[in-house]
Amino acid sequence: MLAAPTALVPSEPTPEQVGSALATIARASDGRVRLRAIGQSNEGRPLRLATVGRGPTRLLYVTQQHGDEPLGTPAAIQALWALGVPDSAWHRWLRSRLTIDVVVQANPDGAVRDQRWNHDPSATGEFAQPGVGYDINRFHNPLTPIEENPVPESRAVLRWWHATRPAVVVDYHMQGRYLQPDGRETTASILWPTSPLAGADAVTRGRQLAVRNYTAMTYLAGANVTRYPGGDYEGIARNAYGVLGSASLLVELSNLPPEQVPAQIRTAFVSMLATAQGAADRTLWKADPADADAIPARGPSLPG
Ligand SMILES: [Zn+2]
Repeated sequence: MLAAPTALVPSEPTPEQVGSALATIARASDGRVRLRAIGQSNEGRPLRLATVGRGPTRLLYVTQQHGDEPLGTPAAIQALWALGVPDSAWHRWLRSRLTIDVVVQANPDGAVRDQRWNHDPSATGEFAQPGVGYDINRFHNPLTPIEENPVPESRAVLRWWHATRPAVVVDYHMQGRYLQPDGRETTASILWPTSPLAGADAVTRGRQLAVRNYTAMTYLAGANVTRYPGGDYEGIARNAYGVLGSASLLVELSNLPPEQVPAQIRTAFVSMLATAQGAADRTLWKADPADADAIPARGPSLPG
């Protein structure tokens, strides 16, 4: 008897709960979901990677680089179940086309502290919180030699990227609450690479990925999606993996009240499945990249 995927982890799982859920999925999938650690956090926690599929097109999803932004993690657990456990003709087709790697909870030390940064009391310099740790999502800079990168979580993801060269990278985060001019609340924001170092082809494919995600999140998950006002720094994963040549996307789920958390997890789950479907049947690359400009700008913060 298979457990319902929604029951596998709570919305803000501990690293132990993530490990246990992944082990359950690996068992239930009869080996179709494979697990490994791609490194260790500063406190020695495993940086968990789950892989489904053996196809030639590689995808990389990353969740919870910021420890206090958890909801991509339960979405990834659900997606791994949904893609790896059933064995229908569609599933076999998808897994023959794609290899999907998921870094599940990239910042376990931050997760246990409910903090943005990793845990490194010696952290200093730009993008560090002194005495606390580093902002992992500012240390993917492809111009920095990996051995000089002080952040083990970022190094592990970068090394995995270089070992696998995924066509697509999607990075799942959370943001605050924002109101649109029409009075509706943003439930998710997305953005493609904006670094001037990213090549035109990678930016085009990132925009196509954004268009596909906008459509799926809006019409399949009922999300109100806006454009994230992100910066151009090449150390941000969204930019870094675009600079390296992947179609890259940032997904930011808004931090909504508890009754809306399941819908937020569902939005990320739909993003993960729609991205996989579009990469497998190549409809992803038929989207009009110019349509990304029609994604509305994010409005001001909700008065709180
Ligand atoms: Zn974040």
